[in-house]
Amino acid sequence: MTTSNKKQKYDIAIVGAGMVGISCALWLQKSGHSVCIIDRSSPGESTASGSACTFADYACIPINSPSLPFQAPSMILGSMIFGKDSPLAIKWNYIHRMIPWLAQFLSNCRPQKVVGIIDALAVILSQAENGLMPLIEDAGATDLIQRRGCLYLYNTTKGYDAARPDILARQERGVSLHEISAGEVYEMEPSLEHLFHKGVFFDRAFQFLFPGKLIERLTAHFVAQGGTYISGNVSAIDSTDQKTRTETRTKTGTKSDTENVRIRYDGKTLFAGKAVIAAGAHALDLLPSLSGKMPLDTERGYHIMLDATKAELTRPVGWAEKGFYMTPLDKQIRIAGTVELGGLQNNYTDRLLNYLEKTAKQALPDLGERESSWLGFRPSMPDALPVIGPSPRDKNIILAFGHQHVGLTLGGITGKIVSSLIGEEKIPFDTSPYSPQRFQ
Ligand SMILES: Cc1cc2nc3c(=O)[nH]c(=O)nc-3n(C[C@H](O)[C@H](O)[C@H](O)COP(=O)(O)OP(=O)(O)OC[C@H]3O[C@@H](n4cnc5c(N)ncnc54)[C@H](O)[C@@H]3O)c2cc1C
Repeated sequence: MTTSNKKQKYDIAIVGAGMVGISCALWLQKSGHSVCIIDRSSPGESTASGSACTFADYACIPINSPSLPFQAPSMILGSMIFGKDSPLAIKWNYIHRMIPWLAQFLSNCRPQKVVGIIDALAVILSQAENGLMPLIEDAGATDLIQRRGCLYLYNTTKGYDAARPDILARQERGVSLHEISAGEVYEMEPSLEHLFHKGVFFDRAFQFLFPGKLIERLTAHFVAQGGTYISGNVSAIDSTDQKTRTETRTKTGTKSDTENVRIRYDGKTLFAGKAVIAAGAHALDLLPSLSGKMPLDTERGYHIMLDATKAELTRPVGWAEKGFYMTPLDKQIRIAGTVELGGLQNNYTDRLLNYLEKTAKQALPDLGERESSWLGFRPSMPDALPVIGPSPRDKNIILAFGHQHVGLTLGGITGKIVSSLIGEEKIPFDTSPYSPQRFQ
């Protein structure tokens, strides 16, 4: 990877080279802007690298639901007091800091709010493939995706019956899915233990084969096309208070030729016309003026990699009641999921790692040794919608974070929206539900 910091002035500077940041960089570059992207980690080490690897354009049902406020306390307390298995957990030393987030989360569990969230998620998810595939094709990375759909399974009648309204809600919004019997489940995935009652097959969904590698490939393409990648830890972003401003047309719109924004990193400074903050769950560290006004927090999630030389899956399989995916990756199967409220600093919770292993082996008894474990930070807003648009404090700083459980899926379309907003191009669907203004 070429690393350069010679040129210190760009049309656009992007902080964060996760799936969202690199997608913004590529779409802005396609629109004719000079773009630099800064990240303190290596390309490919971001949150997407440890994800469940699903292109989940069906995932329009948020965690927010009218029943959750009644179910969650018994799940959490049951696991604490009685040692019951649960994919939900809390770090009690952090939870007091999440009270404002939790209050807004609960308010977004009201039935009318949930319908609005489903609608808004369904719209952006329906555009996700249009936003992503051109980037993958330009980078010559189609070998890093596999189109065999995704399965979502239910092991109890109760679980399946409870999910029926969600299945209908997806269908009503155009998600392509097929409800399948237990027999069809085992025809599709013969290694699975016969404990499932029903399944849903999302035929248009697909799998990323190692999303970290995909981001590396996208970054290499960005650099090969003249983009600048800087390895660095950004400490501050602020306005330069520049009064004059000239604008020039690019092939797709206007482009600022000023130095509106100053970015400090590793003792150095660079200037840009606009900055895009795509720093995932860490974004607020860079936006102190929004602290207390922009309710970004994290839903921590885990994965373990298990040896799969004796167990086979051909596509990602989600186990609905248990809150995780089992995704085949070469000679291993990744068990990824769980939600833990506990901020960015706390250690791993062994109970959740053990839960993933023990439960996955009920479905696939021939899974082997645990070979590695991972903790990642989903950037989550309490209304389960991403934040995409100019900062309420500075129109030259564009916010692009908060993609919760679907940032790998939505990175591409987010980049396209950001590029259109900066180029003042018309966007063919309503993006107001994702506007940062909704929290002001
Ligand atoms: C267990 C788990 C499973 C998941 N499964 C899926 C799935 O199957 N499908 C799906 O669509 N989504 C999935 N997700 C969600 C998805 O991974 C995230 O939504 C997405 O990766 C977020 O991308 P991002 O670019 O916004 O943030 P990140 O990937 O977190 O990237 C932010 C980048 O900013 C950099 N950064 C932060 N602060 C600074 C700074 N000050 N200076 C320099 N750099 C900085 C970081 O180093 C990082 O590289 C999953 C998440 C988890 C945890």
